[in-house]
Amino acid sequence: MKNDIEIFLFIDALGWELVERTHFMEKELPYRRKIEMQFGYSSTAIPTILSGRTPAEHGHLGLFRFAPADSPFKSLAKLAPLMKPESLWNRGRVRNLLSKVVKRLCGFTGYFQLYQMPFKKLALMDYCEKHDLFAPRGMEGIANLYDVLEASGRPFHISDWHIGDRRNFAAARQAIREGKTFLFIYTAELDALLHQYPVLLHDAIREKLDWYAQEIESLFQVCSECDKSLRLTVISDHGMTPLTRTADLKSAVEKTGLVFGRDYGACYDSTMLRATFLTPAAEPAIRAALKPFEECGHWLTEEEEKHYGIYRSDRRFGDAIFLMAPGVQIVPSDMGLRPLNGMHGFAPEDRDSQAVIMSTEEIPPEVRRVADYFGLMKQRLAEATP
Ligand SMILES: [Zn+2]
Repeated sequence: MKNDIEIFLFIDALGWELVERTHFMEKELPYRRKIEMQFGYSSTAIPTILSGRTPAEHGHLGLFRFAPADSPFKSLAKLAPLMKPESLWNRGRVRNLLSKVVKRLCGFTGYFQLYQMPFKKLALMDYCEKHDLFAPRGMEGIANLYDVLEASGRPFHISDWHIGDRRNFAAARQAIREGKTFLFIYTAELDALLHQYPVLLHDAIREKLDWYAQEIESLFQVCSECDKSLRLTVISDHGMTPLTRTADLKSAVEKTGLVFGRDYGACYDSTMLRATFLTPAAEPAIRAALKPFEECGHWLTEEEEKHYGIYRSDRRFGDAIFLMAPGVQIVPSDMGLRPLNGMHGFAPEDRDSQAVIMSTEEIPPEVRRVADYFGLMKQRLAEATP
């Protein structure tokens, strides 16, 4: 069948469980499949979706990584002593403002947030999203979606990730009217809601899903007004796992007496600790400190890292990764001082982690993981390009 318009709609955090329980757009998008999440969180999933590469290949895992030699924040280190009291600088609104200033000073074009990364540690950290991943040549030597679409010669539209879902749907409708035939629509508002209401089918979630359904309907409507047929595929990156408990790994590591930056480095995401051992004593001390947490997390083996596509022989992501069991959040972490009701970034095989693909047409059997979306987009593009 000929398809005049091809749309890939990304809905952040639309998990398989949620889609199954709500029968989301079953009639309109009858072809659907559970998709294995890419290990990590959005900072990992987005570059994987936009390039088809795993973190081992594109180099993005957590937003921050311990890498003093590569830190783009070195010149900011001298400001750290001025930032007292720390409690003031840790307030949400202040950190948001500070993030904007740091982003500008460093010349980043990608998504940037300090979260709760302590300012005094910044000079020892590298940040993975310095560039806008959606922009032309945004992925340092790897062809991204923009590059591939541009090379195809097909008129295309990619959403602006800086703006909200409503405006992105409106921009997509406009793009169709202007004759664009390949669209990648990015939406992220469901993710924020699910972090708040992950457990029950809260009214806010139902309302948001109904709203997405209406917006999707409107895309069909516009295509039909333009007398064009539409093939639409919804893709997601992960689901959302309700909070079961918290674990304070940071205090346990700090109680060893090891000195951060001299003996070890660490990045505390909400669901994993990435540790770098700088002295021979650091590794056994940190492993011993985390022994009491082994019922709520584990150190990844090399086999697991390879299986998840995050193994690097240069240990870019740290010497060892401690992954929390589904539902257990690291609090405090570099991401937050308090837990959220829901979180993602646990083991990809966990039921609540699973992502989803749904389409108006049959999905090729090889599309099983988040990293496979890019191949599908390229395939659909090739079908349409003479
Ligand atoms: Zn999220």
